[in-house]
Amino acid sequence: MAERCPTPDKKRFATAEAAHAYALQRELALDTLLHPYACTCGWIHLTSLPQVPPRAEADPAIVNALRHASHDVFAEAVEADASGRADMPARIALRAPRIRGRWITTLRAINARLDREITDRPASPAWRQRAEVFRHHVQARLAEAERLRDRERAA
Ligand SMILES: [Zn+2]
Repeated sequence: MAERCPTPDKKRFATAEAAHAYALQRELALDTLLHPYACTCGWIHLTSLPQVPPRAEADPAIVNALRHASHDVFAEAVEADASGRADMPARIALRAPRIRGRWITTLRAINARLDREITDRPASPAWRQRAEVFRHHVQARLAEAERLRDRERAA
């Protein structure tokens, strides 16, 4: 059951779609990433995360560790980034061109898994809401990764 909201002053959204549409609009005006999350109160709020600087230098040690990481470890890094839990050095490293292909493949696999889970599972509304918010993050990262790849191909 929904609990009392710890941040009652925050804007409330009923669906992941509505929160993301609002976030995308506002992000153009602000220099932050607006990150939707499912609150314990049953609504979706936005929190701001710093943007990954476009030309930031990745730490080669982190990039290498990711390159050689097992499937599960890599997927966990991708999920942490998508859900806003990763720190900035990890977020920058994940965007390194050398692991771009693996990032995209992993995002597609996570997205497909979420599609299946959301369709197949007779889940609670709270579970479904969290899964839909997360799927939006994964799809936003996928769009970002493909944009970065296409920009490099064009250069
Ligand atoms: Zn709340």
